[in-house]
Amino acid sequence: MKKSLSEYHSLIDLFKEFREHIKPVVVNGLPNFTAYAMENQYNGLKLLQERLGNIQINDWDIPHQVDYHVLRSEMNGVEFDHKVLKQWSRDPGFYNLTDGIYPRLLVHHSRSLSDWGLYEPELPLTTKDYEDFKIKLKVIPKLFDQAKRNLTDAVPELAEIAIRIKEKDIQLLDGFKKEFLIHHQELVPIVEEAIIATKDFRNWLIENKSSMVGKVGIGKENYNWWMKNVHLIPYGWNEFYTMIQNDYNRAISFLKIEQNKNKNEPGYHLTSNAAENLSRQRDAAIKLMKFLNDEEIITIPDQLEPLPIDQYPRVWGSSAYKRPNHMGFFEQTNDREPMTNIAHVFFGHYYIGDRKIWYQKSGEHYIRDKIRLYDIHEARSEALAFGIEEWLMQAGLFDDRPRSREINYVWQAFRNARALADLKMHSNEFSLKDGINFFSDNVPNNWAEKDDDAVWWDIEETLRAPGHSTNYIVGKNMMHQLMMERSKQLGSDFTLKLFFDEFMNGGIIPISLTRWELTGYKDQIDDLLSI
Ligand SMILES: [Zn+2]
Repeated sequence: MKKSLSEYHSLIDLFKEFREHIKPVVVNGLPNFTAYAMENQYNGLKLLQERLGNIQINDWDIPHQVDYHVLRSEMNGVEFDHKVLKQWSRDPGFYNLTDGIYPRLLVHHSRSLSDWGLYEPELPLTTKDYEDFKIKLKVIPKLFDQAKRNLTDAVPELAEIAIRIKEKDIQLLDGFKKEFLIHHQELVPIVEEAIIATKDFRNWLIENKSSMVGKVGIGKENYNWWMKNVHLIPYGWNEFYTMIQNDYNRAISFLKIEQNKNKNEPGYHLTSNAAENLSRQRDAAIKLMKFLNDEEIITIPDQLEPLPIDQYPRVWGSSAYKRPNHMGFFEQTNDREPMTNIAHVFFGHYYIGDRKIWYQKSGEHYIRDKIRLYDIHEARSEALAFGIEEWLMQAGLFDDRPRSREINYVWQAFRNARALADLKMHSNEFSLKDGINFFSDNVPNNWAEKDDDAVWWDIEETLRAPGHSTNYIVGKNMMHQLMMERSKQLGSDFTLKLFFDEFMNGGIIPISLTRWELTGYKDQIDDLLSI
């Protein structure tokens, strides 16, 4: 055991080295994503993977072996970047100034491990932020110069999405300019140059889009490799398709049953102003917290507040792309009944402190306590958050508001329709336009129109983070399997609270690893390793 403990420490050292190695090299604020820099990163990665392969883990206990596979999956993610996604040469949106969907997902280490990107500071700038922010603004023209050289395999459909997001980038910079005219006049020429460079890059994309040839879908084979080796999901594209189509059919059927049951119930009350929006979300957050405690669903720390206001999912006057007064899917659903989304955010994205979700422990596990790279972090969180929406509904959370159950099924249909579009776009059966049309046409009530920000936002997410949309449904179903298995193992000792507590305590890692740790069943991990 002594020997294996020292080998475990070598795993932690390797983890630290790996995380350092993949940070972009930043000189005077400019990150280096040239072909040469990326080739160096890839060569270094291969050496790190070789060292990982030499660590013997057979006599380690399961939790330590799980940590090993966590690192292995992250390294596989970087390998996939270099072999397939190649964002720096393939995806113009990689150079977005503002968050498209990409940084939010933490899917790319270049932003999640480095602070080279622009951010939205409090204005006026503090002395502490001033120099740093000035450098970030100044570097923008150089960043786009580099982008034009690096984007040798740019994909036309990813360019189309980037062109749309550039409008948001320009809006942000224009906002800075207005503020600088009041607070920091000397920064005005710098932000003006940044605006010119951003517009120029956007025009460059418009002009060059027709000569770009790459495919947006990564193909079934790559998709399966990514899901098996990075997300550690023991299924492939065909199984995903069947599973998700069934879930979509179920959501629509249950919606129809619910609508029949509720046909004599009063219609929805739509939120009509900002104050009402806040108060309805606050009521939902308080009710949720009480329900979780009263029904003994999960252990809630004593000091935890209901979801705080700055994390409410619906922000009045601000859609995904900051179009005020836009009535898209988020608005249609949340303004009728915010609870589904409040429950989702509470379990999936309620961050406290330094990007830790409320249930995450700190300081116990060096590797697991970190935010997972790529979409591994969000994939597991989204599966839990998506699953909990219906689990809480079936547990009685919506019993006093029957029509709210319909909203829950509409959300399910939305997520499943999006995931089907994800699969078909990545198998290259659908173009971007086909994906948007299919997604929009399959959301009930026409609540997600084709120019809806939520539709574009989610399709972007799907294309830039393969599997993100499918993970909601597949992960939820993997949790059903785990709940079934734990209930069999524990018999009369099984409680929901025990189940959710032990699931959360495992940390944010792929569900197949949590299952191995909780049940001792190694079949899935053996399957994944045998491929
Ligand atoms: Zn979510």
